Amino acid sequence: MNDALKCPECSNELKRGYIFSPRRISWSESPDPVLSDFGSEVLINNAFIKIGKIPALRCEDCTVVIFKYK
Ligand SMILES: [Zn+2]
Repeated sequence: MNDALKCPECSNELKRGYIFSPRRISWSESPDPVLSDFGSEVLINNAFIKIGKIPALRCEDCTVVIFKYK
């Protein structure tokens, strides 16, 4: 375990926690808004039975969240 992960912006220590979403989390390289996420890359898929939580690290000052999607 790496205990001292630092924020990439302000270098403060990141706070450990979990993120979760009742819907999917998708990735796009375009900032354009979309009507549907069909065809986009899904990082976190729908939770059908229970909502999975993803270990994440967050900086409250910069509102940066870092998480792994696999
Ligand atoms: Zn920060």
